[in-house]
This record gives sequence, C-alpha cells and structure tokens, in this order.
Amino acid sequence: MSTKPSHGAVIGGGLAGMLTARALRRHLDRVTVIDRDELPDGPEPRKGVPQARHAHLLWSGGARIVESLLPGTVERLRAAGAHRIGVQSDMVNMSPYGWQRRFPETQFLIAVGRPLLDWTVRDQVLADPAITVLARTEVHELRGTEGHLDGLSVRGLDSGAVTELDAELVVDAGGRGSRLRQWVAPLGVPEPEEDVVDSGITYSTRIYHAPERAAARFPMVSVYADYRAGEPGRSGLILPIENGRWIVTLSGTRGGEPPTDEAGFTAFAESLRHPLVGQVLATAEPAGPVRGSRSTANRRIHYDRLDRWPDNLIVLGDALAAFNPIYGHGMSSAARAVAVLDRTLRRHRGTPGLAVTAMRAIAAAIDDPWILAASQDVFYPDCRVEAKDPRLSEDLHSRQDFSERVGTVGLSDPVVSAASAGVTTLAAPVASLQSPAVLNALRTGPAQPPLSDPPLTDEEWALLR
Ligand SMILES: Cc1cc2nc3c(=O)[nH]c(=O)nc-3n(C[C@H](O)[C@H](O)[C@H](O)COP(=O)(O)OP(=O)(O)OC[C@H]3O[C@@H](n4cnc5c(N)ncnc54)[C@H](O)[C@@H]3O)c2cc1C
Repeated sequence: MSTKPSHGAVIGGGLAGMLTARALRRHLDRVTVIDRDELPDGPEPRKGVPQARHAHLLWSGGARIVESLLPGTVERLRAAGAHRIGVQSDMVNMSPYGWQRRFPETQFLIAVGRPLLDWTVRDQVLADPAITVLARTEVHELRGTEGHLDGLSVRGLDSGAVTELDAELVVDAGGRGSRLRQWVAPLGVPEPEEDVVDSGITYSTRIYHAPERAAARFPMVSVYADYRAGEPGRSGLILPIENGRWIVTLSGTRGGEPPTDEAGFTAFAESLRHPLVGQVLATAEPAGPVRGSRSTANRRIHYDRLDRWPDNLIVLGDALAAFNPIYGHGMSSAARAVAVLDRTLRRHRGTPGLAVTAMRAIAAAIDDPWILAASQDVFYPDCRVEAKDPRLSEDLHSRQDFSERVGTVGLSDPVVSAASAGVTTLAAPVASLQSPAVLNALRTGPAQPPLSDPPLTDEEWALLR
C-alpha cells in the first residue's frame, strides 16, 4: 500500500477556493491553493476579486455552511464589525411587489465588506499548516487524460519557472474568468454547453460614513426594480458594514445603467421607484469614489452533462455558475457546492465515478439560484438569452404568476414571508414554497393590507438626524 500523502490542488484562492481547501482537508493529507494574486495578510482588496468593492451580502443559507466548515466565523466577523441582519426584522425593503412588512426574523444575512469576509475565512483556513498557497502562480497545463488527471503544472508569474504538482483531486475555483474549458480541451474533453441570461445589469458603488447615531444600528434599506414593468430595472441598496460605514450599491439593467460620477450617483438613488435610498444617503458622508462593475451576467456551464470527463476534476463557484449579483446568491451557492463536494468525498472517495457524482450533485445544488435569477431577468428589456433551459420558455408565465402571488402575499403574510425568506436566503429549496401551509396561505390571501410607506420607525428616522 502506498504511504505517499494524499494531495489535492485548488485553482483559485477566493471564497470558493478557500472553503474547498478546508473541506478537502477533511479527506486529504495536504492541499495546495494556486492563485495569481499575492493573497494579502489582512482585509485588503485585490486585483483577482474586483467585485469585492461592491456590496456583498452573505445569506444565512451560505453563512451556516461557512460556519459548519469554520466554526466561529460569524462571531469573528461580528467582533470585527460585521452586521447580522434579521430577515425581515432588520430590513426596510421595497420588493418588486411593494413594501415588505418587517416580520420577526426567520433567516438572517451577514453584512460585511467582502475583503473582511474573505480575509476572515482565509486566515482560518491557512492556519492549517497542511494547506499551502502558491501565490503569484497560474496554471500552465492539466496533466493526464480525458478520464483521469495525474496533476497539473503551474508557472510562477514572477520567475516564469514551471513546477509539477501531483494531485489525487483537482478543483477549479478560479472564478468567472476560469479557463478550464481551454485547459481540458487538449485532453480530449468535449466543449460543454453553456446557458447565458444577461440583463446587461451594471453596478455603481460608493462607501459612506453612516450618521454617527445610525452607525451601530440602522436597518438595511433597499428599493428593487419591478421586473414586470417592461422597463430597465433600476435598484438601490444601503448595506451597513464594519467601521460605521454603509456600502451603497446602485444597479440598472440594459438601458437603465447607473452613472459613475458623484452627482449622477446621487440623482440615480433619488430617482428609483421610491426615493428612500436617496433620502437616507443625503444624511451620510461619502468616504470614497464611485466604482462600477459589469461582471454580472447569469452564466452556467454544464460540465456535468459531458460524457467524457476526468474522474478527479471538480469545478465550482463562479467558474461553474455565476449569477446576476443583485440576488446575492454567488457566495452562498459556492458554499453549497463545497458542502456537496465534502459529502460526496465522504461517501465516494476512491471510487472511479467520484467527479461525475459530485458534479451532478453540485449542478442540482446550484439549480435554485440559477432559475430564481434567470427566470426573473428574462423579463427585462433587451435581455440576452442564449440558453437551452426549457424552463426559460415553457411555462415561464405560469411559474411567474406563482412567484408574483408568493411575492405579493408574502409582503403582508408571515407564513408566506417566512417561506419566501427561506428560499431567498438559500436556506430552503424553491420546492418548499409548495408546502400545504404556504399553499393555504396563498389561497386565503394576505392577512393585512399592503403598506403604502416604508416601514421605518420614528426612532430609526431620528437616528439620521
Ligand atoms: C458586483 C458584484 C456584486 C456581488 N454581490 C454579491 C452578494 O451580495 N452576495 C453574494 O453571495 N455574491 C455576490 N457576488 C458574487 C460573488 O462575488 C461570487 O459569487 C464569488 O466571489 C465567487 O467566489 P469564487 O471563489 O468562485 O470566485 P472569486 O471570488 O472571483 O475568486 C476567484 C479566485 O481565483 C483566482 N484566479 C482566477 N484565475 C486564476 C488562474 N488562472 N490561476 C490562479 N488563480 C486564478 C483569483 O485571483 C481569485 O482569487 C457579486 C458579484 C459581483 C460581480
């Protein structure tokens, strides 16, 4: 029997890569993470994760998985200033359907600057001496055949030196820019199908100092577009983060893009379906420039459907499926995929079908966030749809009628609101909306009339003065 230590290689040291490294160490002796960037020794932004400058919320579905892999993470984030926001208790939210009543918390989200989140995860993962990082390094080529990888060769970006790494398992977590298709093509792996639904949404983000008395406790404020309106979707979000700051992200689908100049940013915030975001912003002090992002299309690659695929190659995170960020599902979906990989390794490590089993299970785990985002985005004007997913054409309208009913009744009904929160936070499957309790509540309709004004209390308004 071989006594050689087992080794896994992870391409990409972002959130998905770090969580993967942690999960792999439950099964393997050593893990190497390969990243193009120098990974900073602190909560700093970096080139390889440019989206980190925009609002990132980690829903409870993802937070619980992070916590199960790295116990104490949420507490550590909170000690560093992250906010734990109750869904719906700590949210003043205009959904596509209207103002949401602030029912007691059934789910939560963690509101934190992305560099602090990544650093908190990375610092704990790398405390394990058996997990090492090859920084400023990129993949040169994958070694092996279409049926099995022996490992990979990597090249130092500064030295140009090529190093060979043997690996029992290779995981691509290289994000939206992953070149996996190009790497596996020379091995004889066919081109996978890809689904794209691109509403052309762009983001503009600016950080503010919250008014002093609102810094410690003020609800998250959001005004979302109504995708049924037949016009570009324009939305705004104020997310409290560490150090008494608010990260404010404005977004617009094709034809409704937010400006990146300072005056235009404020004017856009005031001109949303309701001026609340602009009104609250007027009480805060800008703390930096406005920054834009366009990496926002829903895109899903179906590696799981290929009939030829190495039995020890996995892909997850944005490298596999990336979503319109407005739904806040990317990081939680990545966490879901890592949890699936962990379970699959527990049951099937060492069996020939491991990667196919894992990739199929991961595809199932990310299907909810995919269809939630794609089936709404297709309604925006000039949305580019290059997708074979039949659900985006057949029965689209009847499924949308159901979503509309859930959304409308959920504004004022606690049972439907809680079920909907479970789905939004990726804590519960979309299918849970078909439970008898929810269907009954949908039949009887909302218990209370809809709100006509934002549900901010007098005390909360006073914190802004
Ligand atoms: C504007 C915006 C806002 C968002 N808001 C939210 C939100 O509110 N909530 C949420 O859950 N998600 C959000 N997302 C999505 C979220 O950012 C991603 O889902 C998440 O970062 C995916 O993690 P990842 O590790 O797969 O990829 P990334 O975080 O992108 O990390 C990829 C890593 O791979 C490295 N890398 C890339 N190529 C190579 C290579 N060839 N060799 C070596 N290393 C490589 C990079 O340096 C980087 O470290 C948002 C996205 C955008 C664009």
